[in-house]
Amino acid sequence: MANETTIALDLEGTLISNAVSQFPRSGLRGFLDFCAKRFDRVCIYTAVRDEVAVPIIKTMVDEENAPSWILQSELIQWDRTVKDLTNIPNSEIMDCLIVDDNPDYIVDSQVSQWIQIEKYSSPYPETDRELQRVQSVIEQRLT
Ligand SMILES: [Mg+2]
Repeated sequence: MANETTIALDLEGTLISNAVSQFPRSGLRGFLDFCAKRFDRVCIYTAVRDEVAVPIIKTMVDEENAPSWILQSELIQWDRTVKDLTNIPNSEIMDCLIVDDNPDYIVDSQVSQWIQIEKYSSPYPETDRELQRVQSVIEQRLT
C-alpha cells in the first residue's frame, strides 16, 4: 500500500498561474492545509529560481492564499532538467509524491510517484477545481 510521507509541489501552472501574474489557483490554501496535515514534509519543486520563488511564496502568504508555514518549506535544488525525486534530501523515491503539470519534468522510472495536475493557464477559468481533484486522488491513494 502507498504510504508516501513527503510531497513535492510544483509552483507555476500547479499552485499559481506563473511567476509573472502569480494568480493563486482556486482552493490553494485548503490544498496546502491538506498537504501539511497528511504529509510529514511539504517541499517546493520549481523551475523558478530561488531568488524569484521566495518572494512569490511570501506574496502568497501576505495575501492569505497560503499558510505561513510554507515560508519554511524546502526549495528543492536541481539542475532544471528533470525533477528527479532523488534530489529531495534524506528521502527515498517511494516516500515521495510530486504534483506537477508538466510531464516533461517527470523521470520515466518515477511516473508512479507523479500526481498529474492540469496546467493552470489562461483564461484561468473560475470553474477550475484541479487542486480539489488532486487532493481527492491523493486521499484515495493513501487510504
Ligand atoms: Mg508547472
